[in-house]
Amino acid sequence: MTGSPCIICVAITGSLPTKANNPAVPITVSEQVESTQEAYEAGASIVHAHVRNDDETPSSDPEKFARLKEGLEKHCPGMIIQFSTGGRSGAGQERGGMLPLRPDMASLSVGSNNFPTRVYENPPDLVEWLASEMLSHDVKPEVEAFDLSHILKAKEMADKGQLAGTPYVQFVMGVKNAMPADRDVFDFYVKTVNRLFGKDAPWCAAGIGANQIMLNEWAIAAGGHARTGLEDNVRLNRDTLAPSNAALVARTAEICAAHDRPVATAKEARAILGL
Ligand SMILES: [Zn+2]
Repeated sequence: MTGSPCIICVAITGSLPTKANNPAVPITVSEQVESTQEAYEAGASIVHAHVRNDDETPSSDPEKFARLKEGLEKHCPGMIIQFSTGGRSGAGQERGGMLPLRPDMASLSVGSNNFPTRVYENPPDLVEWLASEMLSHDVKPEVEAFDLSHILKAKEMADKGQLAGTPYVQFVMGVKNAMPADRDVFDFYVKTVNRLFGKDAPWCAAGIGANQIMLNEWAIAAGGHARTGLEDNVRLNRDTLAPSNAALVARTAEICAAHDRPVATAKEARAILGL
């Protein structure tokens, strides 16, 4: 694992954090492009993006996604663009309305679970529809595993030809009322991905809030890839707000250096993910 490049994904905005939580959260498309460019220059090779309305509420407007994609392609050449089809940004098929824009990747939740104050609903027919849209528009899914069953569901879908290639799974830990950041569960997730998809299959991990830095440590040490960004965590440490997405990327890059893992360039990340 030492020596293998580590992909840093920056989740710039999300659906929840606002400027009241941290003024650095990028809301408008131009703020998002600027924040992503800084993060790209700090080492991020994937940008995971949601879009917002001007009043900071979540949006699923394909026109906003189109403007964002155009800005990112101009200012972050080669960076992997991943759009969220998560359930906080819209309802039903609205969640995949931007897939015809053919971003490099999109997040795909394959099962349901609880969120802090609600059920995160991913009914089977919607999951299948989102996956089929990704196949037809040549968009690589990143499977969001909020639970062990989601990893096994990805295997079933891959075997049925509903996902192209080897699934790229991201473990999401530390969402209140979903899977906590539990070390034994994390180890079993890694073991399960290796068993189902092969020992060289890439995977990624994200931790929410104070778990972000811990999941970065665990994933980087275990040979996985890492996600950071203001979507998941607005703090640099207990006492300090993160001044930018780039500052969180720089923190993750330091952890890579401590584990002798070079930060993957966008070109290397594309090769690792088969894009
Ligand atoms: Zn997201």
